[in-house]
Amino acid sequence: MTAPADPRSRWQLPAPGALPRTAELEPLVTRVLAPNPSGMTLDGTNTYLVGEPGSGQAVLVDPGPDDAAHLAAVEAALADRKARCTAVLVTHHHVDHAEAAQPWGARFGAPVMAAGADVAGPRGRVLAGGERLRLAGTVLEVVPTPGHCADHLSFRLDSGAVLVGDHVLGRGTSVVTHPEGDVVAYLESLRRVHQLGPSALYCGHGPELTEDPGAVLDYYLAHRAYREEQVLAAVADGASTVDELVAGIYAAVPREVWPAAAQSTRATLAKLTAEGRVVAEGDAVRPA
Ligand SMILES: [Zn+2]
Repeated sequence: MTAPADPRSRWQLPAPGALPRTAELEPLVTRVLAPNPSGMTLDGTNTYLVGEPGSGQAVLVDPGPDDAAHLAAVEAALADRKARCTAVLVTHHHVDHAEAAQPWGARFGAPVMAAGADVAGPRGRVLAGGERLRLAGTVLEVVPTPGHCADHLSFRLDSGAVLVGDHVLGRGTSVVTHPEGDVVAYLESLRRVHQLGPSALYCGHGPELTEDPGAVLDYYLAHRAYREEQVLAAVADGASTVDELVAGIYAAVPREVWPAAAQSTRATLAKLTAEGRVVAEGDAVRPA
């Protein structure tokens, strides 16, 4: 059992912490990095401004933390684009993406749009998969990508790039949260984005992936399969609790991310249990 190779290890990606605060990724898209770096958020949350140049409008995707310095950077980027914000889109409800959605939506007089009514708020709009949003002189297609969590959406741009939130990260792999996430849904969502043939993946955290997005999605699929094999092998070897599984499987990763690893492990066990490949007895598991 060998770990699949991450194709990005051969790419010239910026080092952790080296992402610029503001970057134009393509004429349609400016990225503004929020000042909230951590083990889970990598360089920080990526906030995206999307709009046809010259339209005078932009959509804000994942405003991120409600932070004064971040708001100032977003407003400066809007001014650079000579655009006003006409909608706030949110990929999922996690606080590092959604916190500023309602306050900034109110500030800009722009509706909040998300998969969940709790995120969209009373004046917002709940989005459905497959919708084509005509906003800011362009079209954003709503792509349902549940798995990381149940209400996760991605947005496909007219350029072929896909804003993927935490479905795919610029570095490393994402977490299938538990109990709100779902490994089977996550794998389907990876395949769904793959089938779009994205020209680029603009991630919720970390650098943009432009060189070979399909290879990254293949790696993500292989990585989940590998983790599943590791869990099955460890259970066969006598590991019976999530703590024992994490300590063995994630020995090489910083302990800061072990709580997230435990969630992914629980999500994997839920899939294996449903498939009858392991048996759960209270907090313990054993081979089927
Ligand atoms: Zn996030």
